[in-house]
Amino acid sequence: MTEVSTAKDAVPATGEPLVVLDNVNKHFGALHVLQNIDLTIARGEVVVVIGPSGSGKSTLCRAINRLEPIDSGSITLDGKPLPAEGRELARLRADVGMVFQSFNLFAHKTVLQNVTLGQIKVRRKDKAAAETSARALLDRVGVGNQADKYPAQLSGGQQQRVAIARALAMEPKVMLFDEPTSALDPEMINEVLEVMQQLARDGMTMVVVTHEMGFARSAANRVVFMSDGQIVEETTPDQFFTNPRSDRAKDFLSKIL
Ligand code: ADP
Ligand code: MG
Repeated sequence: MTEVSTAKDAVPATGEPLVVLDNVNKHFGALHVLQNIDLTIARGEVVVVIGPSGSGKSTLCRAINRLEPIDSGSITLDGKPLPAEGRELARLRADVGMVFQSFNLFAHKTVLQNVTLGQIKVRRKDKAAAETSARALLDRVGVGNQADKYPAQLSGGQQQRVAIARALAMEPKVMLFDEPTSALDPEMINEVLEVMQQLARDGMTMVVVTHEMGFARSAANRVVFMSDGQIVEETTPDQFFTNPRSDRAKDFLSKIL
C-alpha cells in the first residue's frame, strides 16, 4: 500500500451538485453492468470508487463522459444532460477530463503537442496561448523540462503526469481517473498520486477509481464501493476502511488490505 503524506483539507465540497447520475442502467447483452446507479458528486468533492474487478467501475466512468451509452436513467453535468452526439457532445465531453490506466498519449506528438492539441482543436485557442498554458501545466505536474520529448522517451510516471496535464488543459469541470497508477512501476506511483493530491487540494472535482488506500484515506471525501454493477456502500473513507457495513465490502477489504 502506498502512503501519501498530505491530507485534503483546504477546499471542502460546497454541496452544489456537479455530476448527477439518476437511476442509470446499462447492459452489455445479458450482463446488467450498471444497476440503478444514483450518484451525486458535488463541486469540489473527491469521490474514490473502489470494488472488485468487473464490478462496473470503468463503465461508470465511461458513461459519465458518454464513451459508453446508457440504456436508461440520466446523467447531467452542471445541470445539463450530456447530448448523445455532435459538436455539443465534444464540447461537453471536454468538460470531463479523463485519465486512464494506459496513458494513451499520442505517440507521434511531442509532450507539448499532446497538451496543446485539444486546446487548439476543441477549445479553439490559438497556438501561442495553448503553448503558454501547456508549459504552465507541465510545470505544475513536474515535467516542464520534458516538453520537447516524445512519450516513449518518458517514464511511465512522467507519461501519466503528462496525461493529467493534457486533461487539465481542457479546463474540465470534473476529472475522472480510472486506475491511474495500476500500470506503473511501484516507485512511480507516488509521484502521480501527489499530483492528484495537489489537484484535490486545489478544489478540483474528482472521481477516482483506485485501489490506493492511502490516497483514498487522505484525499477522498467519500468512498463509493461497487460490486456486481451496484453501489453497495457510500460513506466516508474512515468509516469504510474501519467499519464497512456490507459483507461484500468486508470480503473485498480482507483481500486487499
Ligand atoms: P471494472 O472497471 O470494475 O473492472 P468494467 O466496467 O470494466 O469493470 O466491466 C464490468 C463488466 O462489464 C465486466 O464483466 C466486463 O467484462 C464487462 N464489459 C466491460 N466492457 C464491455 C464491453 N464493451 N462489452 C461487453 N462486456 C463488457
Ligand atoms: Mg476498470
